[in-house]
Amino acid sequence: MGFSEFNLIERFFVRDNPQRRDVVLGIGDDCALLKVPEGQSLAVSMDTLVEGVHFLHDTAAADVAAKAMAVNLSDLAAIGAEPAWVTLSLSIPKIDLGWLQAFSDSFHEMLNHYVLQVVGGDTTRGPLSITMQAHGFVPSNVALRRSGAKAGDLVCVTGPLGDACLGLKVAQHKLAAPGNLRDYLLGKYYRPKPKVAAGIVLRSRATSAIDVSDGLVADLGHICKASGVGAVITAENIPLSEAAKSVTTEERVLDCALTGGDDYELCFTVAEDDLRNVKAALETVGVPCYPVGRITGKSGVRVTHHGKTLELDRVGFDHFAAA
Ligand SMILES: [Mg+2]
Repeated sequence: MGFSEFNLIERFFVRDNPQRRDVVLGIGDDCALLKVPEGQSLAVSMDTLVEGVHFLHDTAAADVAAKAMAVNLSDLAAIGAEPAWVTLSLSIPKIDLGWLQAFSDSFHEMLNHYVLQVVGGDTTRGPLSITMQAHGFVPSNVALRRSGAKAGDLVCVTGPLGDACLGLKVAQHKLAAPGNLRDYLLGKYYRPKPKVAAGIVLRSRATSAIDVSDGLVADLGHICKASGVGAVITAENIPLSEAAKSVTTEERVLDCALTGGDDYELCFTVAEDDLRNVKAALETVGVPCYPVGRITGKSGVRVTHHGKTLELDRVGFDHFAAA
């Protein structure tokens, strides 16, 4: 059922945001009319976030909007696309003007930041859930894919892993952290920064790429499967933040980094000879590059820690449950 009494989309989601030249006709008609630049492919990604499943019940509206946008943009980053447009479908249990205002303020902040235009949307009454679709452009011949990793390539990530998973534990009151560390970890969980500029820099440089949404082992596993290769992760080379290391043991942070997810860094592979150039190119957009493993010819993802193979728990490798 729609909200016929309010035109929520027009009231909350049409503002003076960037008017892109590739939008021939925006919100307000039955369809948007959009122009993909010549020589580019349209990259499309969609994610749904459901309250109680993908985010906690008491999550602030501003954080829900920012995260919904970030996870979509992170998928565009993983393929090397430059974001352009978004559509939004919002299911809400009731009209809560305060919630909608906070949600849409945050949503518009993201639109401005990434020079995106919202080109369509819908609101319905139902359990709180947000479906967002992001569209971007990438020249098809340089789009990053999961399928190009080759034995011998180095596996790299763009930033510390494990923080978001620890942030979730903090939000769930399962992990205590003092003031500024608490804020940092919660920020990493609620406000991931999609590595859009890094994805664009990695076009035609990385041999494969993915964004880390489900933990390094699972996401690198997707690359390996698509590429018909395997990988060894050297756990002691995984970048861990000082904040993470100071609130819990290194082993727990590594658990989070390997299997926790929600970090939205990029994981990519490069030929060893290209590492130095790739590092320098990423530096130009302020993004670090950490080699954390190597692609092998043998299928599956193996993790070593100071020379010993780690046995990953089949049910999730989460020692917090037992702590
Ligand atoms: Mg993804």
